[in-house]
Amino acid sequence: MTDFDLVLRARRVLTASGEQAGWVGVRSGRIAAIEPFDAPVRAGQVVDLADDEVLLPGLVDTHVHVNEPGRTEWEGFATATRAAAAGGVTTIIDMPLNSIPPTVDVDALRVKRKTADGQVWVDTGFWGGAVPGNVPALRPLHDAGVFGFKCFLLHSGVDEFPHLTAAELDEAMREVAAFDGLLIVHAEDADTIDHAPHEPGAAYADFLRSRPRLAEDVAIAQVIELARRTGCRAHILHLSSADALPMIAAARGEGVRLTVETCPHYLSFTAEEIGDGATQFKCCPPIREADNREQLWQALADGVIDCVVSDHSPCTPELKRLDLGDFSVAWGGISSIQLGLPAIWSGARERGHTLADVVEWMAGRPAELAGLSGKGRIAVGADADFCVFAPDAEFVVDPANLHHKNPITPYAGRTLTGVVRDTWLRGTRIAERPHGRLISRGES
Ligand SMILES: [Zn+2]
Repeated sequence: MTDFDLVLRARRVLTASGEQAGWVGVRSGRIAAIEPFDAPVRAGQVVDLADDEVLLPGLVDTHVHVNEPGRTEWEGFATATRAAAAGGVTTIIDMPLNSIPPTVDVDALRVKRKTADGQVWVDTGFWGGAVPGNVPALRPLHDAGVFGFKCFLLHSGVDEFPHLTAAELDEAMREVAAFDGLLIVHAEDADTIDHAPHEPGAAYADFLRSRPRLAEDVAIAQVIELARRTGCRAHILHLSSADALPMIAAARGEGVRLTVETCPHYLSFTAEEIGDGATQFKCCPPIREADNREQLWQALADGVIDCVVSDHSPCTPELKRLDLGDFSVAWGGISSIQLGLPAIWSGARERGHTLADVVEWMAGRPAELAGLSGKGRIAVGADADFCVFAPDAEFVVDPANLHHKNPITPYAGRTLTGVVRDTWLRGTRIAERPHGRLISRGES
């Protein structure tokens, strides 16, 4: 007779209530017990981690652009989620744009779900989109299980997902507040960017001047003000400008319902080190200066930034225009879903942060943002999603080992600390075939 289907035993287990030597018992895909290392075990399968491995909860990445259907040559569900699994990520939430159709009504959500069904390696949910004219579609999308709504305040990069004006943003926030939903915002101000200097070419400094910190600061101030007025819960996507941190902290201090994410590339790279023509580093908002990066790290430590998610946003190699090296025409987006954990752990460790901090930023808080109470933590009752991580091992990033469809990455050739050795989803090792589920808001 056995008590559990599976037991994972490790010298270091990062549970929701701290680190311990112990084992985790799994029954029917959920965590049923957490016991001390030497406690007797009766299970169908016992897996002992190596002495250099730590058992982490599977990471939750709430910012992934899968692009399928419609731009499947950029990325697809099978490749993106396989890369996620290889990076220790066991739950993703797909962004509503770059696929065709964009997820701006219930019919489009059905198309996305049908396309994803059967080919996802990790649990996969969906964001809806707020675009001009679709306010009546927001509540039905919410009821159909999207986790919230993404909007832009400037051109999104694709014509079928237009951005909101100030009046439209106000209207969308009132509607989302009415059903206590979540609005997630690409916060760069169109007018500020229109008036910034635009010098095409290969110089990164010119590109950086075309997307100034001020554009983010102005847009974030607008979101804060409307969140305050409407009571809408708002989330700032991919924060790059550290200049916005004081007003974010102040707004939160006053009780504005605001959360903030940043991404591994803003914490890993600096504008100073980006060579001319190196468009693999292009993303919007852009990677900024070294002093800006250190302020972002500090804000994470202070809790002003809540979480770190990938903004995995691939395209074809042609669209990166590495041949031209012109930042003004290259697609903006960085693919890093498989590398986020080692990238962040490498930087965190150098700055004295713990693995528990990293797990909080990349698993616990993103799960909280999405309302996924059964994800992102090792606790009794949670899903048995795990990442087996060797925090002292090192590797050199070789694009040939990346599973996403077009393995261009600015991390190529970099030495990172921390290797994902294994990933488990609801008590089953993710190895042979896709067995992820399509998930909805309010589940799990
Ligand atoms: Zn994005």
